[in-house]
Amino acid sequence: MNDDIERVLYSQADIAEACGRLGKQLTADYQDKVPVVISVLSGAVFFTTDVLRQMEVYTQIDFIDVSSYNGGTHSSGEVRLVTDISQDVSGRDVLIIEDIVDTGRTLKFIIDLLKDRHAKSVKVCTLLDKPAGRVLEAKADYVGFVVPDEFVVGYGLDYKGEYRNLPYVGVLKPKIYVNK
Ligand code: 5GP
Ligand code: MG
Ligand code: MG
Repeated sequence: MNDDIERVLYSQADIAEACGRLGKQLTADYQDKVPVVISVLSGAVFFTTDVLRQMEVYTQIDFIDVSSYNGGTHSSGEVRLVTDISQDVSGRDVLIIEDIVDTGRTLKFIIDLLKDRHAKSVKVCTLLDKPAGRVLEAKADYVGFVVPDEFVVGYGLDYKGEYRNLPYVGVLKPKIYVNK
């Protein structure tokens, strides 16, 4: 295990199992649709590729990058569009793939954007849900794990750009970010 990790919350095997479970649900729910899957950069990329390989439905993949975190451990409160998707979602079924829903600000921003553009339906699949952090109402339709109110990294989630490629999700030792 990486020395900066206090404990592992979800192992590679736990994550694989969650991707299988969510993939089955998504396969059933999108059977007769061709959804535009929008992966939220950069954190959701690992989860997106794994869960989509378990979703046996024709899909189109797109990416969006929004920023609210400034790379630290607490949300700045303001969400800004960094890189937009490249396709027209009007009249389309859209599935957003997120790494974690914390305050809900990022998700609300993206959902509002897609609704303004007249998406036919907008649903959300997130690896992690941290309900204790919620500031705005934002609900994920498909959830891998409900996480405690701690700062986690790995499997796409970063602290200042690091730890994304850990194969598991773990709690970062507070000494790494306290007083920094
Ligand atoms: P929001 O607060 O807008 O719901 O979440 C915005 C973003 O904050 C998430 O997509 C994620 O990138 C980041 N975030 C929230 N909680 C955590 C956490 O525990 N660990 C890491 N690494 N990022 C987090
Ligand atoms: Mg994210
Ligand atoms: Mg981040």
